[in-house]
Amino acid sequence: MSSNSAVVVGGGISGLASAIGLRLAGWHVTVVERAAVLDDAGAGISLAANGMRALATLGVGEAVEAAARRQYTGGTRTPDGRRLALMDGAALERELGAPIVGIPRAALHRILREALPAESLVIGAEVTDVEVTDVDTAQPSRVRVTYGDTTLDADLVVAADGIHSRIRRRLFPTHPGPAYNGSTVLRAITERPVDGLTADFELTWGHGAEFGHIAFPDGRAEWHAVLNAPAGVRYQDPLTEVRRRFAHWHEPIPALLAATRPEAVLHHDVNELATPLPSYVAGRIALLGDAAHAMAPHLGQGACQALEDAVTLAAAVAEARSVEAALARYDAQRRPRSQTVARDARRAGRMGQQLANPLAVGLRNAAIRLTPPGAMVRTALKHADWTPPRITPRAA
Ligand SMILES: Cc1cc2nc3c(=O)[nH]c(=O)nc-3n(C[C@H](O)[C@H](O)[C@H](O)COP(=O)(O)OP(=O)(O)OC[C@H]3O[C@@H](n4cnc5c(N)ncnc54)[C@H](O)[C@@H]3O)c2cc1C
Repeated sequence: MSSNSAVVVGGGISGLASAIGLRLAGWHVTVVERAAVLDDAGAGISLAANGMRALATLGVGEAVEAAARRQYTGGTRTPDGRRLALMDGAALERELGAPIVGIPRAALHRILREALPAESLVIGAEVTDVEVTDVDTAQPSRVRVTYGDTTLDADLVVAADGIHSRIRRRLFPTHPGPAYNGSTVLRAITERPVDGLTADFELTWGHGAEFGHIAFPDGRAEWHAVLNAPAGVRYQDPLTEVRRRFAHWHEPIPALLAATRPEAVLHHDVNELATPLPSYVAGRIALLGDAAHAMAPHLGQGACQALEDAVTLAAAVAEARSVEAALARYDAQRRPRSQTVARDARRAGRMGQQLANPLAVGLRNAAIRLTPPGAMVRTALKHADWTPPRITPRAA
């Protein structure tokens, strides 16, 4: 299929990536984003090999690698600094055929944005309605997207409107939607390079609490503190609260916190789609990224799965004879895999950061120490082994 048109609702990682993929498939694409500034600033992200291979398929792999830091060293520790699991990122890169990297979200977002022509982006426009038009069987049905006073007709709508997706609510009104998973996360990027930051990526598990960091090429880092907490908990001074809880943990945690400005700290509760959707497709609408499978962050796979979605959708529409056939293939290929990853991410949280009982924590740590070096990291990264499909437009 070529010379078709798509409207992508949402200009986050999922929406921009799917727009790039659909353009490679030969489609005309418009991305509609409600925010006035197209950005994803504020924190950092790890991209595992599957995410990096998807980005390479989209033609932005080299740019992302250049702006990112490879995660070769680090692993998991206890608050007193004792090693639980060691990371050998170089060996994993050889095995998986792509690196694991850490990158500021703003840099990833900019690279995706710059891979699209400015005229394909409509910003500051909130989509208020999506409806299937022309259900006359003699005509292929199209979809209509409304924002403000504008309507756009398209052959396909990609709902990349995030965890609180309006389009998902519209298509699946009885689905319960996102649920709080019991953890709240505070995170920030340091304002300056941090001395003594030797690990590229590290997680430290306490009792119902985790502190992690992702180092960037310029020596700054993103850190995140995850806590078991009631939904909606807020702190008057978030950085002081994080220092109170974590500044006595091993280095470089105190150094990371000392290099952070109070106003840089973001605080969000962790929500996920605990009830899997029955389909990622309805008519000519495809759900993608967090709109389809918002997952707990404990495996660092949410955006990687969104990037897989984007490439798989583009490859399907490029090859299939009809939009309907392409979407059926997209749903069949993406739903089982992404829902398995989401389930494993939830389990990883329960066995990792969320485990609070001292006896259970002790048993877990002893079990990890008995496993061969690197085995735990390999288990955490088992979903990173993914081969992207090619995006090859059919000859007209
Ligand atoms: C603490 C934390 C750490 C994480 N770490 C990692 C990690 O290390 N690695 C990883 O792979 N993943 C990670 N993730 C997951 C990852 O951040 C998400 O999966 C990813 O950002 C989802 O992108 P998205 O584009 O689907 O959604 P979003 O980023 O939410 O984008 C949705 C966009 O749609 C727009 N929008 C919404 N409604 C409308 C509308 N009606 N009209 C127009 N626009 C609309 C929004 O403004 C937004 O820009 C983490 C998540 C969390 C919470």
